Amino acid sequence: MAKLIFTYGAMNAGKTTSLLQVAHNYEERGLKTAIFTYNDCDNNGSCFCRLGVSKKCTIFNKETDFMEVDLADASILLIDEAQFLTKQQVFDLGRITSLNDVPVMCFGLRTSWQGNVFEGSSALLGLADELREIRTICCCGKRATMAMKTQSTDNKSEEDIGHDKYVSLCRKCWLLSAKSGGVTL
Ligand SMILES: [Zn+2]
Repeated sequence: MAKLIFTYGAMNAGKTTSLLQVAHNYEERGLKTAIFTYNDCDNNGSCFCRLGVSKKCTIFNKETDFMEVDLADASILLIDEAQFLTKQQVFDLGRITSLNDVPVMCFGLRTSWQGNVFEGSSALLGLADELREIRTICCCGKRATMAMKTQSTDNKSEEDIGHDKYVSLCRKCWLLSAKSGGVTL
């Protein structure tokens, strides 16, 4: 039976790299993939990872109806920036997995830099058949689970996803940084 899988990690943990590796594995076997990423990016429908590999993908936004999307003969759906999915979209992806028997792998952040669980991540944490964490390390050597903005900016949006604007921290360093940076959590 196909599974709905949520792979989450802190900023720059390698989520997109993992997505592209899965896509490569499928395509190497002659299987088609359908790759989606959120519209709030400046890369014109390419999925970029920090290793410089990119791949053409379809943009989704909060209006996208995954039940209406032509999946052609895709053997798997891969969703990047899955934290920005709506709860309804996550339920529809669950339907595609269970009723169409197509595996769906979602990759995204669990929480925003302010420590709030994203809508898509919340729904995925509740609904996914399998949760996977990609680990990355804080500057102090502990496991990083949180993100903090690296530069003072007026942009308080939790959808501000420029990866160079964040650093991944463990919760202790995140709390201390928030305090010294005057961020109210
Ligand atoms: Zn730390």
